[in-house]
Amino acid sequence: MSDLHRLSIRELSEGLAQAKFSSRELTEHYLKRIAKIDTQVQSYITVTAEQALAQADAADAAIKAGHATTLTGLPIAHKDIFCTQGIKTTAGSKMLDNFISPYDATVVAKGKAAGLVTLGKVNMDEFAMGSTSENPHFGSTKNPWNLEHVPGGSSGGSAAVVAADLAPFATGTDTGGSIRQPASFCGLTGLKPTYGRVSRFGMIAYASSMDQSGPMARSAEDCAYLMNVMAGHDAKDSTSVQKEVDDYVSNLNDTSVKGLRIGIPKQYFNVQGLDADVKARVEKSLKKLEEMGAILVEINLNMTEAYVPTYYLIAPAEASSNLQRFDGVRYGYRCENPVDLMDLYKRSRSEGFGTEVQRRILIGTYALSAGYYDAYYVKAQKVRRLIQQDFLKAFENVDVIAAPSAPTTAYKIGANLSPTEMYLGDIYTLAVNLAGLPAINAPVGFDKNNLPVGLQLIGNYWSESQLLSVVHQYQQATDWHTKRAAIAEENA
Ligand code: GLN
Repeated sequence: MSDLHRLSIRELSEGLAQAKFSSRELTEHYLKRIAKIDTQVQSYITVTAEQALAQADAADAAIKAGHATTLTGLPIAHKDIFCTQGIKTTAGSKMLDNFISPYDATVVAKGKAAGLVTLGKVNMDEFAMGSTSENPHFGSTKNPWNLEHVPGGSSGGSAAVVAADLAPFATGTDTGGSIRQPASFCGLTGLKPTYGRVSRFGMIAYASSMDQSGPMARSAEDCAYLMNVMAGHDAKDSTSVQKEVDDYVSNLNDTSVKGLRIGIPKQYFNVQGLDADVKARVEKSLKKLEEMGAILVEINLNMTEAYVPTYYLIAPAEASSNLQRFDGVRYGYRCENPVDLMDLYKRSRSEGFGTEVQRRILIGTYALSAGYYDAYYVKAQKVRRLIQQDFLKAFENVDVIAAPSAPTTAYKIGANLSPTEMYLGDIYTLAVNLAGLPAINAPVGFDKNNLPVGLQLIGNYWSESQLLSVVHQYQQATDWHTKRAAIAEENA
């Protein structure tokens, strides 16, 4: 079968169960595609072919023996921020380019327990700091829709592998938009769950109070299957929440769009820099939802201007603390011939971290330093609370909130935006992380250059089922999520 990569997760699961094809055949099919097509997309940092085939054989044996779960034998790609036992975990940094974790991240372990086959680890912005996946150490991953453009970031590798059909689904992480923005740039569905829904254990920390991982795939249905594996309490992560997990797949039809109250924040559609095509496509998708019975309600989110400055204080502050551990002593990169301990620290960190990571460590350290702590960090935390309250007030009157996922479509590789320009591109995603809310991106069409546009739906706490269900209804009535980039149509 040469078109296995065109099947949905449900179809793959059914095909394996009915022995239409084996996990080995499926895995070999993807490995062949990776060998041929990833020379252009450059999404994988590590391909674990041998291990994948062994996992596939084990999956086939389990299926034959009747021990299979729904996803046994399906291949997956993991963002290279998740620790994988025995396989390199780089976090996209020279600092960790030879790091082999002694244990699996919980998300990876859960995937293994469910019988998933790991194809490899994919590229990202260094330590998940960035929005383009133009990685200074591992190169730029390309957007499958147009190889001259970025796939977004920081989970750009995860988005690119799915959009080029180099994996049927992938894990991503989202601290300030890193699942939703690349999903938007690559025409995919991506869910950022409520903070605490998915374990952070073994996920290399960027900003711990906002880091959250989630599924990236073609459709809400595909994401629901992966969410069923990822979600749940984990004793190894003290911020993971002890709350019953939904069956996201069986809930896909539980929320009706009919009568659903969708809040449209006035401020969001007046943002300077919102591309006209993006605005038009997003508005068109809202019209479609209205035709399907949704009620569009104009709302106010008055704190919009505070999102970027608040996030870009808190995230670097937490990063500066989290990244202290990379000191050239215990693990990771160590400079050559240090003359003394201070030289070892200084040069290991200067040589091991790229420019953006160093910028954030410096900003964060400054914001946390005595004398500036109250003026910057504490103040940002207070504003963060106001942002959260703004959302809670809005949710008294609406079920979900709609927004673009990003003000533009994918940038050109090498566009070289200044840090401030780059940070402004995160205007629509950051508040969700500051407030700890769940949100989803759904593809809703293309701009004049044939680059994908995404709609973001933000839900109240623990509303993952509702978000997936609303997008699922939309995807039953439209076909944007079925569009494939030309490179995905290529056969290996
Ligand atoms: N672009 C944002 C940043 O650079 C978000 C990154 C993320 O979600 N990991 O911080």
